[in-house]
Amino acid sequence: MSKYSFLLTLLLSAYLFYGCSQTESAQISQVQEVTLNETERTPLLLISIDGFRTDYLERTDTPALDYFLSKGVQAEYLKPIYPSNTFPNHYALATGLYAENTGIIANNMFDPELGRFALGNRDAVSDGRWYGGEPIWVTAENQGVRTATMFWPGSEADVMGVRPTRWVQYDNSITYPSRVDSVITWLQVEDYTRPDFLTLYFSRVDSRGHGHGVESDSVTAAIEYVDRQIGYLIDELKRIDMWGNINIFITSDHGMASLSEEKTIFLDDIIDLDHVFVRNWGTAGMIAPRDGRTEEVYNQLKAAEDEYGNVFRVYRKADIPERFRFKNHPRVPEILIEFDVPYAMTSRSNFERRGILAGNHGWDPESPEMHTIFFAKGPDFHEQLTFPYVNMVDIYELMCHLLGLDPAENDGNFDVWERALR
Ligand code: AMP
Ligand code: ZN
Ligand code: ZN
Repeated sequence: MSKYSFLLTLLLSAYLFYGCSQTESAQISQVQEVTLNETERTPLLLISIDGFRTDYLERTDTPALDYFLSKGVQAEYLKPIYPSNTFPNHYALATGLYAENTGIIANNMFDPELGRFALGNRDAVSDGRWYGGEPIWVTAENQGVRTATMFWPGSEADVMGVRPTRWVQYDNSITYPSRVDSVITWLQVEDYTRPDFLTLYFSRVDSRGHGHGVESDSVTAAIEYVDRQIGYLIDELKRIDMWGNINIFITSDHGMASLSEEKTIFLDDIIDLDHVFVRNWGTAGMIAPRDGRTEEVYNQLKAAEDEYGNVFRVYRKADIPERFRFKNHPRVPEILIEFDVPYAMTSRSNFERRGILAGNHGWDPESPEMHTIFFAKGPDFHEQLTFPYVNMVDIYELMCHLLGLDPAENDGNFDVWERALR
């Protein structure tokens, strides 16, 4: 029993001994629950290395990740949800729900009541009304388990009126070692606010992939840099005697593929941009035609499929394939253009101003380039075991299982984890 649990138990006994009012007894039952939690629960640390393609592991020396895997399990790959972008996928991981069930359908989206959502728009990102479903930190907090997030999409918002006990506003300038230090500090809290669920997030591998392309030395250097942060985390966990007593996931949201100018499609060569609102550019074109323009815009785009060699498919909302689990949300606009890897769309003016990215993601989750990693290590997992692929939406069920929580309704499947667990 930790020092803290012991104190709580003393407190509880004192209350019981001296008698109490109804309100006090309600408080006590909470205290009792916390005491039990403290002694029985293994903390869970969820780490995301954004944009870590499955094959990045073989790319260069990654001593820390190799060491981690020598003590843990590894899925052959993790399949993202559609679209394979950051917010939809981190939030799908947290809730066990596809985009059509969370409403986080893209990093850039529009809602008639809420207006525009974009990653740089702090008001939108922290507004709980954008986020459907129940993220793991809400499930946990509502069941008496404390949580702390060192960045995670959605964690800054009051989802269902609840936030993590500790959370940090997204700020890419916070250094990676100091992010690790925050997690280590939180794990050493000695009162009832000590978190049993924590997150840690690193974006560098993704940003270098966008800026320099999959094959670049810059991506290699980013993989090595993040690997050193994982090494630092492991050393720190050993120093505080937690390495053997914590479950850790190292995972990511999607892969990456390199773009080329020859495979860039200029939307304004096909339709008149004054007739539409483009809600999302890039690899998943989300188009809301202006009033009365839907048929015209759809027909022009549809005709272009053949003309451009069938490297993209144009769907009316109702005809988006079921397997994308994407169409049943009011924020999904009337037309979707779904591109083959590595095709993507821009406009002539945007291209002249900014050129194209060197790499991107967002394509069909079945594409191997979009596949990513799932590693787990800790007292609840086997060692040195590889198991078949898993889906992004399956992770929520696993987290609830490990933390002893009743899961909210979700799209995931727990059975896939049986082989990995002790
Ligand atoms: P993507 O455009 O899908 O590659 O998104 C990756 C980017 O998302 C990162 O480079 C970060 O700048 C951004 N990002 C990640 N987490 C957050 C967050 N919690 N709030 C705002 N932006 C974020
Ligand atoms: Zn991402
Ligand atoms: Zn990215």
